[in-house]
This record gives sequence, structure tokens and C-alpha cells, in this order.
Amino acid sequence: MIFEASRAKALDQLNNFVDNNLAEYSKLRNFDFGPEKRSNISCLSPYITHGIINEREVIHKALNKFSFLKNEKFIQEVLWRTYWKGWLELRPNVWTDYLIELNQIKNEFRNNKDYLDATEGKTNINCFNEWVKELKEKNYLHNHTRMWFASIWIFTLELPWQLGAEFFMQHLYDGDAASNTLGWRWVAGVQTQGKHYLASEWNIKKFTNNRFQNIKLNENAPPKISEKSYQIIKQDFNNPQNVEEKNLLIFENNLSFEITDFKEKNFKKIYLVHNKNENRSIKLNEKLVKFKSQLTEDQEQRLKDQSIDCQIINISEIKNIENCCGLYPTVGENLDFLNSNNLKIDFLYRKLDQLAWQFCNKGFFNFKNYIPKIISSLN
Ligand SMILES: Cc1cc2nc3c(=O)[nH]c(=O)nc-3n(C[C@H](O)[C@H](O)[C@H](O)COP(=O)(O)OP(=O)(O)OC[C@H]3O[C@@H](n4cnc5c(N)ncnc54)[C@H](O)[C@@H]3O)c2cc1C
Repeated sequence: MIFEASRAKALDQLNNFVDNNLAEYSKLRNFDFGPEKRSNISCLSPYITHGIINEREVIHKALNKFSFLKNEKFIQEVLWRTYWKGWLELRPNVWTDYLIELNQIKNEFRNNKDYLDATEGKTNINCFNEWVKELKEKNYLHNHTRMWFASIWIFTLELPWQLGAEFFMQHLYDGDAASNTLGWRWVAGVQTQGKHYLASEWNIKKFTNNRFQNIKLNENAPPKISEKSYQIIKQDFNNPQNVEEKNLLIFENNLSFEITDFKEKNFKKIYLVHNKNENRSIKLNEKLVKFKSQLTEDQEQRLKDQSIDCQIINISEIKNIENCCGLYPTVGENLDFLNSNNLKIDFLYRKLDQLAWQFCNKGFFNFKNYIPKIISSLN
């Protein structure tokens, strides 16, 4: 699987998946057949994470092909992302605390041999070593493999989940503060307190089509315990009035202005905000920085083709831009930069998020009940 950094390629990928593989998605999605055989899943996450294509577009395309009932599993998966995002928006301290804990643990583990061996794929668990290699080479892992990987990291290698989450963020093209942090918390057993995910030999063998043998894991470890609990912080996700004629900031999560809810508005100028490593707590691998740059340049070109005045800027240059509003960057590194530099910006929220995030106060099981309502609002 090669992820080419353009909207045209993302649309090809979406169309190809819906036309040829969506029908079998719910039956085959849990299988990891290997990095060269990814047609059973969509591989759209690097694009959706960056807003190159969005959930609405993906769900529309799927519903044009099959009924809601036939699409139910796929749509649920697409909306897991929206759910995790909303869950974190209501409890932003989970992200802040994660970064604080990470900072402390990183110092402790700087020279830890087990940690270094894990990140270099030099453990005595063959499948894990293969996945480390795949993560670094392909910058993507299958969902089931992410679960096994995180579980082995935490319960067999006995390493802190915070370091594993950082390792994923450094290498995944789809690295996302919400899906990643909460995915790792969920595997560890601190997201749903007391419920963890334990990888097992039979499960890995079955869902990798017996590609790996002799996998010795700790299959009886208890869940991790966290004393912290997080209350919901009530927030308004309302859009400001009168945004026309302002400058618009677009961050790395919304890199297709032409499909946003705000595409009809007349902004004075659009600034595409690039965030290089110097302003990130988690330093990204060179390939990720390049991928993000190319996606930003692709958006710039598409805007220029429509004669829209636009410019790519570094995040540190935002302070020089007056009279601006911005597409909401969501909890994560970009919002952290704005907050820590006291840059107050009027945010524009997507209709999907305004509706869906109010249902993220409880678990996904509860959220699922609102999916038909969310879908009908997408029309
Ligand atoms: C420990 C761990 C870390 C993860 N880190 C990330 C991350 O940093 N960024 C990220 O985008 N996803 C993350 N995920 C979720 C999931 O693994 C990926 O979104 C998925 O594998 C992407 O592949 P796909 O596009 O082929 O998915 P498909 O199976 O084709 O699903 C379609 C879309 O649904 C969404 N989706 C599917 N499963 C999930 C899920 N469990 N959670 C959230 N959204 C989902 C994605 O947008 C995906 O593109 C993580 C999961 C785990 C267990």
C-alpha cells in the first residue's frame, strides 16, 4: 500500500474500495493479510485524518452503493473517529495529562534496553518485530494489528502505553491525537476502567492467516490502573457570525476547503498552516513531515486553480495575521500551540462535529443509537 499525497489519489482509493471491496468489508475487515494485501479494508485513514476526504463524503459514497443495513459496520467504523474526537473534546485534559506523563516517562526510559529493543524490532516476538518494521516502512498498520501491537507492548513487553502511543504518532501517516491516545488507553484498560484488550496467539494466527507461528505472549495480565478520572467540561461549539471578508486559517486536519461547510463563504485570504517539528511535543518522522507538506501543497494548488487567494505559512507566523478565523484544529498539537502562545482565534466547527460531539458523553454503545440521526443530518 502506497499513500500518495493528493486528493485525486484519495478519491481513487475511495472509489476503488467502494466499487470493489466494500461488499465484503464486514466479513473480512479483521484480517491482516499482510502489507501487500490491504484490499479488505479502505486504507483511507491517512486521508480522512488530514481532511483530504471527509466522513460525509465517504459515507455518501458508501450509501450510494449499498443500503444503510448493508453498510452499517463500515459506517460505524467511520464514525468511531468522530466519536473519539468528540470524547476527547469533552475531556481535553486527557490529552494534556498524556503529554505530561509522556514527558516524565521518556526521561526514565531514555536508555531502557527493553524499550529500545522494542522500537528497533529486536524483541523475541517475531510478529511484533515485523510490525515495527512495517510501521516504519509503510507508516500504516491494520487496525487489528494496532490492537495486538499495543497489547504486546503493554502486557508482554511491560512497557508504558504512553511510550507506545508516542511511537505510533511518530510513524503513522494517520496519527491523530484522539484515535491514537484513546486507542492505547482502551487497550491498556484505562479508557473503560478495568476492561483491557489482551492479544492471544490463536487470535493472531487466525486473523493473519497463519503467517506467524509460536507466539509466546502474556495472555493473563490484569488491566492497567489509573487513579485519574475525567469529568466532562461543558463547551460551546458555536460558530461566530460575520466571518466573510476575514482571513481563514486552515490547519492540517481540514486540507480540502472545497468540501468544508464553509466553501461558499468569501474569505479575504486563506492561510494553510504548516506545523513543522519545532512546535510539536511529539517529533514526527521525516516521512510524515513530508507527507503533510505535500498534502498542504496539493491543497494550495487546488485553491489556486480556483483563483482563491492563498498562502502556506508556518504555524509560528499566525501571530502576524490580523482579522482571522480558523477551521477548528481539534484537541492536539496545533491547538496546543495556539493556546500556549495565547493566540485567540474564532473557530469554525463542522456541522457533523457540532451534532455528533454532544453524543460523546458516554460510551460508543450509546453513541451508536444516534448514528441514523447523524447520517440524516449529513444530507
Ligand atoms: C492502538 C490504536 C491506535 C490507533 N491510532 C490511530 C490513529 O492515530 N489515527 C487513526 O486514524 N486511527 C487510529 N486507530 C484506529 C484504526 O486502527 C485506524 O483508523 C484504521 O486502522 C485505519 O485503517 P482503514 O482506513 O483501512 O480503516 P477501515 O477499517 O477501512 O475504516 C474506515 C475508516 O473508519 C475509521 N476507523 C476505523 N476504525 C477505527 C477506530 N478503531 N478508531 C477510530 N477510527 C476508526 C478511520 O477513519 C478509517 O479510515 C488506532 C487504533 C488503535 C487500536
